[in-house]
Amino acid sequence: MEKCNILGIQYDNTTVAKAAKDIYEFACSNARGYVVTPNAEIAETCFKNKELKTAVENADFILPDGAGVIMASKILGRPLKCRVTGVDTAKELLLIMSKTRKRLYLLGAKPGVSERAAENISAMYPGIVIAGTHHGYFKDDEEVISLINNADPDIVFVALGYPRQEIFMYNNYKRVNAVMMGIGGGVDIFAGEAKRAPDFFINHNLEWFYRLLKQPTRIGRMMKLPAYIIRAVFWKITSRKE
Ligand code: UDP
Repeated sequence: MEKCNILGIQYDNTTVAKAAKDIYEFACSNARGYVVTPNAEIAETCFKNKELKTAVENADFILPDGAGVIMASKILGRPLKCRVTGVDTAKELLLIMSKTRKRLYLLGAKPGVSERAAENISAMYPGIVIAGTHHGYFKDDEEVISLINNADPDIVFVALGYPRQEIFMYNNYKRVNAVMMGIGGGVDIFAGEAKRAPDFFINHNLEWFYRLLKQPTRIGRMMKLPAYIIRAVFWKITSRKE
């Protein structure tokens, strides 16, 4: 798989369709591993949080989720093909899984939400087998891992928010008998609790702006986006001087 180094993270230079197919094949090979989908906020946090950075670096697939990452890739002169969001890739993966009756486990979100997401996924993708669900507010990883393994899924969607979901997957991927994929607020979206931005915002790389309008309290988190872009500009200037 073609990799592209953007500010120290080796992203897969791929598309939603190709990423979903590759993850599916990886899961079919009975592999254990995990997928991360960093946006600018996560990538910027990696400079301060070494545990998160290690978790991101060790993933089997690193998909460029955010508009900020794409922008940084252009600034650095090694443009990534496109955004490959966790939610879009998850939907494409569900489509493929539904044709072969693969087993899905949903881990994350508030109690009750993953069950609603599972009902909606079953209705939208009738071939999928829901192996199980669990909310994301647990303390004991061991207990959750044995619940997951007993349910025998092929793929686990992990929606614990960052950095918890990346660190959970890194700490536990050798013991979970499935491929895990971090999807952030994706379980809320499948449950109908949260909505994705209208197409206009997605198509113009403004999904972050729509989320900010909907949740102004995210402003603190979102300041990492300009910080990340400024870092890319500095990186470019300094590397030119070398
Ligand atoms: N969440 C969770 N356990 C936690 C913290 C968060 O299950 O300990 C869930 C939360 O309920 C929400 C998701 O993780 O469903 C994070 O959503 P957010 O919109 O913050 O995702 P992000 O911006 O990280 O993609």
